[in-house]
Amino acid sequence: MTRKVLVLGEVRDGSLRNVSFEAIAAGKTIAEGGEVVGVLLGDSVSALGEQLLHYGADRVVVVEDEKLKQYTSDGFSQAFQAVVDAESPEGIVFGHTALGKDLSPRVAGKLGTGLVSDVTALEEAGGNLVFTRPIYSGKAFEKKIITDGIIFATIRPNNIPALEKDESRSGEVGSVTAEIKDLRTIIKDVVRKASEGVDLSEAKVIIAGGRGVKSEDGFEPLKELANVLGGAVGASRGACDADYCDYSLQIGQTGKVVTPDLYIACGISGAIQHLAGMSNSKVIVAINKDPEANIFKVADYGIVGDLFEVVPMLTEEFKKLKV
Ligand code: FAD
Repeated sequence: MTRKVLVLGEVRDGSLRNVSFEAIAAGKTIAEGGEVVGVLLGDSVSALGEQLLHYGADRVVVVEDEKLKQYTSDGFSQAFQAVVDAESPEGIVFGHTALGKDLSPRVAGKLGTGLVSDVTALEEAGGNLVFTRPIYSGKAFEKKIITDGIIFATIRPNNIPALEKDESRSGEVGSVTAEIKDLRTIIKDVVRKASEGVDLSEAKVIIAGGRGVKSEDGFEPLKELANVLGGAVGASRGACDADYCDYSLQIGQTGKVVTPDLYIACGISGAIQHLAGMSNSKVIVAINKDPEANIFKVADYGIVGDLFEVVPMLTEEFKKLKV
């Protein structure tokens, strides 16, 4: 069965987040040969439509309104509903980001449809679309089939590969008018606490520090390694609780869930709540003084040693490879 699928392009600081392109790839699978329509909501975002086309959208629909300059649950859900009313989709895909996690249940609620969230894989099997998602903090995976209504999914960043960018692809970038009213939240200012540089939830490489880094300054060698590898710095809750870094870096059950290609855990013991946020990383390297540390159970490569010796050595070696 072919379907029309709406895919939300998520805009941050004037650029599309990578997960938008991954969502288009998921949208293609759900469409099963039908149409994938990119959706952009914002103040002046239509220029980004072309990029959604390059990554596989067949057409793009934009809702522009100054009330959409900053994300609000009320504003974006009304704007998205206007697109749904105009397009009558059979499928919807968002990124499983902070925005997607907030918006998707509202949209699903308004539509009276179900939602399969945090999807890490999607395949066609036996005539069904099968969605895989982690449960019990990543200790198990469940497979879901949607039998009725709109197929609505949020996809975890860094899991479903985006299609190859093709700049020769073109298509219509149209607009939909939405009446956005009764906003209960007015955003006056946005103050970012997160570190500048690579976004943790979309980073391909993460260097994470735990209580073993011992101080705020102890994160410096980790930052250097992250710079050399073009990665982001993350942390355990132990490091955040000890005030070595900001909570925006926390990875785990009550922090961010990440799936980078490479996760280097430095001075992290590997508590179950930490593993819940990173154990699906593609390659895990653990550096710890304690050979019995739990983190080694999930690591692909383990280095028993002092992180203050090992991390600078790695940085120097990676620098040599880059020259
Ligand atoms: P520790 O357990 O103290 O481990 C420090 C490690 O550093 C040790 O293994 C030690 O051998 C090693 N080390 C010390 N010095 C060096 C050195 N020089 N070189 C190399 N290694 C060294 N935790 C999270 O991370 N994320 C969460 O989201 C989270 N959510 C939680 C939710 C709940 C409800 C609860 C109860 C807990 C949660 N926790 C979470 C906390 C979690 O249980 C652990 O307490 C925390 O992960 C421990 O952090 P850590 O590994 O940095 O510290």
